[in-house]
Amino acid sequence: MARYFGGLLFGLAVVVSCGWLFISRPWAGQPEPPADFVIPTQSVEDVRSHAARVNEVRTSETIDKPAREQFAADRDDVVFDAARAMGYLKDICKIGPRISGSDGMTKQQELLKKHFESLGGKVELQSFTARQESQPRPVDMANMIVRWHPDRKRRVILCSHYDTRPIADQEPDRRKWHEPFVSANDGGSGVALLMELAHQMKDFKTEVGVDFVFFDGEEYVFDPERDKYFFGSEHFGRAYSKDKSKRVPGGPRQEYVAAVLMDMIAGKNPRFPVEQHSAMQAGALVRELWSIAAELKCKAFVDRVGSAVLDDHLALNRAGIPAVDIIDFNYPHWHRLTDLPDNCSGEGMEQVARVLTAWLERIK
Ligand code: ZN
Repeated sequence: MARYFGGLLFGLAVVVSCGWLFISRPWAGQPEPPADFVIPTQSVEDVRSHAARVNEVRTSETIDKPAREQFAADRDDVVFDAARAMGYLKDICKIGPRISGSDGMTKQQELLKKHFESLGGKVELQSFTARQESQPRPVDMANMIVRWHPDRKRRVILCSHYDTRPIADQEPDRRKWHEPFVSANDGGSGVALLMELAHQMKDFKTEVGVDFVFFDGEEYVFDPERDKYFFGSEHFGRAYSKDKSKRVPGGPRQEYVAAVLMDMIAGKNPRFPVEQHSAMQAGALVRELWSIAAELKCKAFVDRVGSAVLDDHLALNRAGIPAVDIIDFNYPHWHRLTDLPDNCSGEGMEQVARVLTAWLERIK
């Protein structure tokens, strides 16, 4: 995750957060928010009324069953193996840092390619070169795309970034910033969830095609004040928009109808309130996911609007793909050397996977 903040009034937060994205220095001026970030306030109201409705459902629930039993009560086809997902998380972290353009990233790409191909996915690398402001040379990056049912035209994206930050810049002791940082939850957790979910994908009953997308260059930041974020998702969004504009009427057409981004989903006792940009830019998708979570008793999903987070979903929304970020804003090890598998658990990944699989079964 790139950067977050909270506690401001909702409307003020929207304006300020747009400023954060484009200048990264909110104290330096108050630019007009760009037009594509101005979202009708109606969608916010929709989310609020949805939250109120879900609250009504919750308060009428019986609470005499143990939490785990309630959580699984209406699904007997439990196939997501949280312990195996944690095993994948550890495997990824054993590689060490997975910084864009590094040997660690190449090793991770090899591991993932082998894993997804062995389970029937079609793996592609979307390569590009990125130049970071603070760095003397450009670096080669690649988003990884794993396609399931590649022939289907209506498609959805499940995604995460898969690079790690070169510096642990939330460590209070600056001398520690350059120690090896494995970023287990921040990046690793989304990858681990999708590695585990891949076991179900080949024969999964859904009407849409599914693409797992791993974004590179989300964390390629050496100077947080000056550097750019989101190289991979911005490249992906631009490539998609360009491709869409070239299509001829009646010609072959693949279209993304939704995207779900996962970031920091494996903390202990995680909480996923509705992220503000998701609520404003993809309100209908937020309602679908959080309603399913309430129905399935996935209590990590909190039915209130939380902080505004700058993350890879912004570039997807700009490309016309409604995109939601499922994120635990309050993970205490964010960008610290203690973001390790020992500070993660499978519980959040399991709940996210249950919501996603139920959603994929229903989507038309
Ligand atoms: Zn991060």
